[in-house]
Amino acid sequence: MKNISILGSTGSVGTQALNVIEANPDLYRILALTAHSNSNLLIEQALKFKPLLVVVTDDSKYQQVKTALSGTNTKVLAGEASLCEAASLEGVDLVLTAIVGSVGLSPTVAAIQAGKDIALANKETLVVAGDLITALAKAHNVKIIPVDSEHSAIFQCLVGESNSSIEKIYLTASGGPFRGKDADFLRSVTKAQALKHPNWVMGAKITIDSASLMNKGLEVIEAKWLFDLEVDQIDVIVHPQSIVHSLVQFNDGSMKAQMGLPDMNLPIHYALAYPDRIHSDFKRFNFMDYPELNFYKADQKTFRNLELAYTALRRGGNMPCIINAANEVVVEAFLQERIGFLQMSDVIAACMEEIAFVEKPSLNNYLETDRYTRIFAGQLVTN
Ligand code: NDP
Ligand code: MG
Repeated sequence: MKNISILGSTGSVGTQALNVIEANPDLYRILALTAHSNSNLLIEQALKFKPLLVVVTDDSKYQQVKTALSGTNTKVLAGEASLCEAASLEGVDLVLTAIVGSVGLSPTVAAIQAGKDIALANKETLVVAGDLITALAKAHNVKIIPVDSEHSAIFQCLVGESNSSIEKIYLTASGGPFRGKDADFLRSVTKAQALKHPNWVMGAKITIDSASLMNKGLEVIEAKWLFDLEVDQIDVIVHPQSIVHSLVQFNDGSMKAQMGLPDMNLPIHYALAYPDRIHSDFKRFNFMDYPELNFYKADQKTFRNLELAYTALRRGGNMPCIINAANEVVVEAFLQERIGFLQMSDVIAACMEEIAFVEKPSLNNYLETDRYTRIFAGQLVTN
């Protein structure tokens, strides 16, 4: 029996994870759940899974959750700082980080310090502070198991292999809803168009990131830290069908790919069950439905975010933290229809120019960089 804490249980990844857990009551028990604003769903989840603790980070929802769970054994806490309690709760074996954004950083640190294994969906945490997180995990002998489908694919390809035999990896990208479009087209695309992902149903932020290719940029950085690679060992290949979830090329020239239908249930299922595989009833792949699988070069000229992410990773230091914070601000502004699609990259590039570079950042430097960048980017999107 694995005892699990889910940070972000009301989101796309969080709810799919709870479906997997509900289908396997003999394998998993929920000890803690956290949500931000969706108090109604959090209450429903708490009544069903009976955790020891729930955290609602939006303070204004605390009273409602507290009252609804008053007759139960579930403790209710409010506020962002309480996420660390859910992450480090005694008895928890595995923390699924399914929060969106760099707000996941501090609770992930708390979970690792408490010796909990991490099923990591919250890629922003590794983008912001991958060096610190991976070093901390090593020091505490904590496993970081990727949930992101591409990284889960690489992770699965590496079972039984040694990282030193990796020549390079290819992260596949669907290309999003605007694959093949030019800058003229992108200038006037709407939020509704950007939110229509061809293959995956996900939360709003990552869906916009997929449309702008920033998601792939963040994933390149995530892969560097998860698999201890040099930047030049990480390539991106556009694969519109999203069946090949990613590939590893080894030093003897052999390649391994992991495949399956584009369904987040699969990598979630694997991360929770790791190192085992357990049976699922998910729909199976049928070759006759996919007579062709295609692969293309990514268009980094039109989709500048991918190039910006590579540049940030090459510069190192707090540069990935800067692009992540700037990106969170511009995606929010785009979702509120305050800026256009192409302006997102302009603001991110301006932040990379303007925010003070720190070569070897501490956790505090990262938190400060995150805060300053948000302020600076916030000014740019309101001007
Ligand atoms: P969602 O937007 O669907 O869910 C986000 C979760 O985080 C919700 O539970 C939300 O609470 C909570 N949350 C939002 N803001 C805060 C905050 N300020 N403080 C604390 N909690 C907060 O996101 P996804 O599930 O799509 O994505 C989660 C993470 O997983 C992201 O990092 C994403 O990049 C990654 N990921 C997602 C994939 C997917 O298929 N969705 C695929 C691969 C990676 P509430 O809803 O109650 O407000
Ligand atoms: Mg992904």
